[in-house]
Amino acid sequence: MDLKYNKYFDQRIKCPICLSDKTKKVFDKPFLNKEIIDFIDNYYKNKIPHYVFENTNYSIKKCLNCTGLFQEYIFNNSYMGELYENWISKKDSLKKKEDFSVYNFSRYVNDLEKISLYLNKKPKDISILEYGMGWGYWSRIAHSMNFDVSGFEVSQSRINYASKNNIKIISNIDNLKNLSFDFIYSFAVFEHISNPYEMLKCLKSLLNEKGLIYIYVPNGIFAENKFNKSWRASKDSLHPLEHINCFNRKSLRILAQKLNLKIKYNVFYPRYKNLLSIYKEPIKHIYNNTFSTGVFLKANK
Ligand SMILES: [Zn+2]
Repeated sequence: MDLKYNKYFDQRIKCPICLSDKTKKVFDKPFLNKEIIDFIDNYYKNKIPHYVFENTNYSIKKCLNCTGLFQEYIFNNSYMGELYENWISKKDSLKKKEDFSVYNFSRYVNDLEKISLYLNKKPKDISILEYGMGWGYWSRIAHSMNFDVSGFEVSQSRINYASKNNIKIISNIDNLKNLSFDFIYSFAVFEHISNPYEMLKCLKSLLNEKGLIYIYVPNGIFAENKFNKSWRASKDSLHPLEHINCFNRKSLRILAQKLNLKIKYNVFYPRYKNLLSIYKEPIKHIYNNTFSTGVFLKANK
């Protein structure tokens, strides 16, 4: 058979978001074309050898059922590991967190306050899983507020870093199986993983009764329109190697429905802190409940 990809890649045929096999091609060019490889060289600081891209295309498909986009060819498990552990600059990724301002941390505190209000329990009685903990900054804040927090992470360097902060760390998916949580938090993870549908199904199975899952992914509502003649790869809701699934509100809704989950509105209700927030908060609130790709999910009864 004439394979259209090399041994460093896997092919995804069905939509990884809703599992539909009704898809159409939106874009299809060799990774080694200038408009793609220039971005990869620049973004990964020339760390990725070009031979891993030979005979393989940057192929984007659109799902005709959920309208999400996905990359057809993604790094296989071992090269995905290489990408996240060695090719992405650990220094730059950690620096983003180290440079956090008080505002960044206070957003975490605000969000956790709302979770406690929603569940109507004290932090000590709320068990949380952060799926895709990274360097553990969010979990650290949750831990310091007395929430019973566990972090799931596969990158060894991030685990080593986060473990200095007394966070319970789970690195093997099988070790999650006997646990359950009131709240599962996953910020900017689902666009990176090969199997978002299977992963959400797994997370749902870990929810306590009345439990809530929060997923945030970049909003790709206009992603398809960007593939015109002047298109060049850039950091976006969909970009080579990393942002391999591209969601919009509809694709999240269909994913949720398929797993018998429903989007829960008004968890992050408007918060009026000053005069400006009287104008900004209602707009944000409407956006959160209509177009946003940050959603709270709960199991249907
Ligand atoms: Zn789909």
